[in-house]
Amino acid sequence: MIQSASKAFFHTLAGSELVKRLASRYGLRQGNSFGRRFIAGETVAEAIEAARAIERAGLAQTLDLLGESVSSIAEADTATRAYLSVIDSIVAANIGRNISLKLTQLGLTIDRATCVDNLRRILDVAARHEFFVRIDMENSPYTQVTLDIFETMWQQDYRNVGTVLQSCLPRSLQDARRMNAMSARVRIVKGAYKEPRKVAYQDKAQVDAAFVEIAELLLSEGTYPAIATHDPRMIAAVRSHAARHGITPDRFEFQMLYGIRRDLQMQLRSEGFNVRVYVPFGREWFPYFMRRLGERPANIGFVMRAILTER
Ligand SMILES: Cc1cc2nc3c(=O)[nH]c(=O)nc-3n(C[C@H](O)[C@H](O)[C@H](O)COP(=O)(O)OP(=O)(O)OC[C@H]3O[C@@H](n4cnc5c(N)ncnc54)[C@H](O)[C@@H]3O)c2cc1C
Repeated sequence: MIQSASKAFFHTLAGSELVKRLASRYGLRQGNSFGRRFIAGETVAEAIEAARAIERAGLAQTLDLLGESVSSIAEADTATRAYLSVIDSIVAANIGRNISLKLTQLGLTIDRATCVDNLRRILDVAARHEFFVRIDMENSPYTQVTLDIFETMWQQDYRNVGTVLQSCLPRSLQDARRMNAMSARVRIVKGAYKEPRKVAYQDKAQVDAAFVEIAELLLSEGTYPAIATHDPRMIAAVRSHAARHGITPDRFEFQMLYGIRRDLQMQLRSEGFNVRVYVPFGREWFPYFMRRLGERPANIGFVMRAILTER
């Protein structure tokens, strides 16, 4: 309940142009600016530096060039080119080849065919360089179309791609069965968006129970699932299911967000689990940042401290 209200509050703030302007001006300005807790920087060079540090610590990474809901075909094309250039930079830097992207960034809200073409441009280059591309899941108006586009790519024999399911949506259990039958790689998350009652659980206990159920299904019948959570209870449930069913740690990975529960990331790694850190970067960081605040209102405390101490 509180979590749902907090998501709604930060969702409203995220729509404020004034807040956005102020945050964009100050959020990443210095090394200790508040945005840097969750965002690796504005440039690909900064993201690669963060990725290198993550890999030096023994963890894997996926880079996410932030951006969503572009409003013209030209902007979708720019985002696509930017991703192609990120791929080149990753190859040149010789770091792990894994990226995450959003379909609304590639033009989904403007024209579906353009979005599919843009995705294909990225998947082709990515395949040539042996990248894995994760299509992030956005809010519920885009669930079906995202899965449809993913399946279209799969039917066209793209195998360097996977998607995300959200346990807050009751439909996801069925979607997980479908993905398992296709042998597609799924990342399971709780869901970051404020969703209406008619499509999503509003009660955290239900979201958590569904997370465990879907994660177990993916572990037992899926293909190298990604268990993306910072919640120690979810992690314990997954570990215990894997141990009970003889599912070895090489058959799945944990994923966490940049800047969140670094202690837990390292602990899991030291116990022999694969851990991947999602590293967001780029100029369009504001909506992503606001979703992180909405998940944990206590984060507002560190933002305020950072603002007050910054000169
Ligand atoms: C790798 C990765 C990829 C993701 N991709 C998507 C996606 O494609 N689509 C989507 O809708 N969502 C995505 N998410 C976000 C996800 O849906 C949740 O909103 C987010 O992970 C918080 O849920 P939780 O499972 O950590 O559990 P929660 O119950 O929210 O949190 C459990 C504990 O984790 C810590 N924690 C969680 N969030 C924060 C935070 N913001 N700041 C500080 N501590 C925190 C706290 O200790 C908290 O008590 C992704 C998450 C991860 C880790």
